[in-house]
Amino acid sequence: MSDCIFCKINQNQISASKIAENEFVYVIKDINPKAPIHYLIIPKKHIENLSHFEDFDSQVASAIILMSRDLSKKLKEPQDFKLIFNNGYSAGQRVFHSHAHFLAGKQMEE
Ligand code: AMP
Repeated sequence: MSDCIFCKINQNQISASKIAENEFVYVIKDINPKAPIHYLIIPKKHIENLSHFEDFDSQVASAIILMSRDLSKKLKEPQDFKLIFNNGYSAGQRVFHSHAHFLAGKQMEE
């Protein structure tokens, strides 16, 4: 989508350093981190949020999960992390291009 910030980052129209990527997803640091490590795992395909995933987007969905696993392997011990989707405005979503928040690096039991 032409006016989508995460599409623009993916197409290098807005600069952001990608810390990992593959065919389906890319990863950047969140500009406003809520934890010592706060990454965003972002599908390259523009999908508004989880409610808009189609059955044929299953490879994208699994790529998000597997990327979180790969990112956790690069953490210092412990390799624990949270993976959060804000799905819809009233759930806190403000960028309407699906993404997972990968949070790590402090006690997060709550
Ligand atoms: P959400 O509220 O779930 O839609 O999360 C959107 C996230 O995107 C927020 O945590 C923002 O801090 C983050 N964000 C917005 N613009 C950028 C950007 N240019 N680079 C990195 N993170 C961004």
